[in-house]
Amino acid sequence: MTLLMTLIFIVGFVALAITEAKLIIWGLAALAYAALALALGGALSLNAVAVLAFIPGIVFILLSVPMIRRLVLTNHIYKAVKSILPRVSRTEQEALDAGTVGWDAELFSGRPQWGKLLDIEKPHLTEEEQAFLDGPTEEACKMIDDWDTRHNRADMPEEVWQYLKDNGFLGMLISKEHGGLGFTAQAQSMIVSKIAGRSIAAGITVMVPNSLGPGELLEKYGTKEQQDKYLERLAKGKEVPCFALTAPHAGSDAAGMRDVGVVCEGMHEGKKVLGVKLNWEKRYITLGPVATLLGLAFNLYDPENRLGKGTNVGITLALIPTDHEGVNIGRRHYPARSAFMNGPNSGKDVFIPLDWIIGGTEYCGQGWRMLMECLSTGRAISLPAIGTVSIKQALRVTSAYARIRRQFGISIGMMEGVAEPVARLVKDSYMYEGARATTAAMVDEGQKPSVISALLKYRTTDAMRERINDAMDVHGGRAVCDGPSNYLFAGYQAVPVAITVEGANILTRTLITFAQGALRAHPFLYKEISAAQNENVAEGQKAFDKAFAGHTGFMLRNILASFLHSLTFGRFASSPRNGPTKIYYQRLHRYAQNFALVGDWVVAFLGGDLKRKQRISGRMADILSDLYLMSTTLKRWEDDGAIADDLPIVQAIAEDRFAAIEHSFDQVFNNFPNPVLRTLMRFLVFPLGRRAKGSSDRENYRLAKAMLRHSEQRDRLTRDIFVSFDPSDRTGILEDTLQKVEEAAEIEKRFIRALKKGEIARRLDRDAIDDAVDKGILNDNEAGILRAADEATDKVIQVDDFASKELGAHGDNQSNVAAQ
Ligand SMILES: Cc1cc2nc3c(=O)[nH]c(=O)nc-3n(C[C@H](O)[C@H](O)[C@H](O)COP(=O)(O)OP(=O)(O)OC[C@H]3O[C@@H](n4cnc5c(N)ncnc54)[C@H](O)[C@@H]3O)c2cc1C
Repeated sequence: MTLLMTLIFIVGFVALAITEAKLIIWGLAALAYAALALALGGALSLNAVAVLAFIPGIVFILLSVPMIRRLVLTNHIYKAVKSILPRVSRTEQEALDAGTVGWDAELFSGRPQWGKLLDIEKPHLTEEEQAFLDGPTEEACKMIDDWDTRHNRADMPEEVWQYLKDNGFLGMLISKEHGGLGFTAQAQSMIVSKIAGRSIAAGITVMVPNSLGPGELLEKYGTKEQQDKYLERLAKGKEVPCFALTAPHAGSDAAGMRDVGVVCEGMHEGKKVLGVKLNWEKRYITLGPVATLLGLAFNLYDPENRLGKGTNVGITLALIPTDHEGVNIGRRHYPARSAFMNGPNSGKDVFIPLDWIIGGTEYCGQGWRMLMECLSTGRAISLPAIGTVSIKQALRVTSAYARIRRQFGISIGMMEGVAEPVARLVKDSYMYEGARATTAAMVDEGQKPSVISALLKYRTTDAMRERINDAMDVHGGRAVCDGPSNYLFAGYQAVPVAITVEGANILTRTLITFAQGALRAHPFLYKEISAAQNENVAEGQKAFDKAFAGHTGFMLRNILASFLHSLTFGRFASSPRNGPTKIYYQRLHRYAQNFALVGDWVVAFLGGDLKRKQRISGRMADILSDLYLMSTTLKRWEDDGAIADDLPIVQAIAEDRFAAIEHSFDQVFNNFPNPVLRTLMRFLVFPLGRRAKGSSDRENYRLAKAMLRHSEQRDRLTRDIFVSFDPSDRTGILEDTLQKVEEAAEIEKRFIRALKKGEIARRLDRDAIDDAVDKGILNDNEAGILRAADEATDKVIQVDDFASKELGAHGDNQSNVAAQ
């Protein structure tokens, strides 16, 4: 009987916790349990009935009455929370409010509703967009000579600039109504990708006007006059925009800028008007040196309160023609020795009329909110596109080179040591393309994924760095020596640019992603904090009480579900599919549940300290992003039509991501400041220890080996990049040679066998081929195929060399810093 009662207790407890039952249900269930125990007489002692069921039942029922609960419990917690909560500054609040939550909230909840992921429309382009990608974009890629651009002129040739302007590349996000292409986020992402895969400088040049800047700001917030005046000109490339936020003293902390505008009267076009006198000093501004229209962020002050918004109005954005009196613009920085335009600009006592403020006076002081809203979508498109295409491009060239390049008598790609980085390129190409495409599709559905865009930015650009390094390593000296035929070095050099812009990665990983995610995507936290900050105490207490009750149920459910799913390795977790990916959905659910538990405790325990405990926050960001990347990998597999050949890639990615997630949890537990919570969390997440081991050597070797030839899978993994088969093109030569080497493979085997048997005296060179023909080992046709492969290989492995004078510096060498 005692055993039966114990079983009923456990089952009841689990059922209530897992369904997040309301307090009243807990109370009634506890009393029912007490009644049953008494009715069965002797099954439990009276003391046990009182402690286990009767007293908790009464307490739960009393606490389920909001007024009583508030009086005895939540009002006190409310006070404590209020006193320890750090004040959220206005700019922090605006950053938090920007954007929307979507799949990230599902992961934070620990109970992902798969439909919300799988129902996101399969990434696609309209006919017009596809034609643009296949037509003008392909053409632009053919026109771009990256070496000439970055080495000879440190700029794109005039005809490339003009082609991009004339074909609307600089106005892809501007609506058709305003003369732009009005393309979807998916199309923008793919077009930027394709161009950046050919030349990072050209990619950035196209990316910037289509990312956060005048075009987008005018589309969203501009007055009708501003839109009519500028949008069509921007769309047609008649105006070149830039956007200046960063200043010498305000980099990551951009809101801390010293650039100021003061509301005053001044002369404009011969008339005295109310306007703003500006003083600013900005740097690192992309397109700045060639811009005709400067978007400027500054702090607006209104000492006489003439705008009626107080004296300290706040961050404000204006559009200033760069030929306006007092604007100092034109000098260049030389970021990563890349050829895109970037430079400082400044202004001293520059007077502008009020109608140059983006959105007019109504939007004065709203600048930070406007920027954060644009960033939440822009960051989801631009840098993920550049990061992903760099990985796909690196795979395409590296897989070809690894087959073509032979050492010790075999293709280097066949060697296990080389196959390892090639396999990483395979997995990341698949995974990041899935994430890029799904995230762009989310934006096209109207989401503004602020947390997802942050994690995707830092993950894609970090992966870009790692995978380009892999590609460099596989190429050895061939990639180290720069020159016209080097197709990797420019990307290698440009990596730090991608890492640094739109929120430098360290900050984005360790400060933004998890903290913002916890506040925005956690089901109750934001409600509790908003309630605690409510000026109206009574209202605040009421709202806090409601959120707190929900949070308690959430915590209880997390404890149980996390433990049970971990104990069973996710075997009973949910999955939307029954096929070969079922177990990966289930394991993903299990880790999301673990994340919900640990994330909740990390926030509850560290609170405002999270800003300082960045190593823990960074690892939580890694877990969240691994969960996200795994989700989009599974979605990609579905969207691609569940291609069986790609299943081993999905499986290897899953094994790696799950191992990475377990490692990050382990590190969080090892470093969590509270020993009791640390031990408890470890027990609930790893009751049977860590089990994920990562993909095996054998699986990885197979993935890499499959890449050493032309195949549909290789094309799929590198889809939508610029591919040439023209042997006179710097990457076309690889594709052409790979074809020739594949064609010669069987003939070569015979030839090598003959060499080994001593039937032919010399090693593989053209004379030896002649000998093989003389001895009847090869016929003329076969010899021709072998020779063609050998000659093409010869070209692929060449590196550039220069006369010393050819390597002299070019351009104006006088730096303003050096001159000081
Ligand atoms: C090539 C290039 C193009 C750019 N284009 C533009 C543009 O068009 N318009 C524009 O306005 N700006 C532009 N920027 C500026 C860019 O956004 C900034 O460089 C970036 O915000 C970082 O600022 P910073 O370089 O001053 O680094 P810092 O702010 O000095 O940061 C240095 C390091 O400290 C880390 N860090 C800083 N604060 C924290 C924190 N609280 N927690 C953890 N880590 C932290 C950062 O992650 C970084 O790793 C560009 C920059 C470059 C290099």
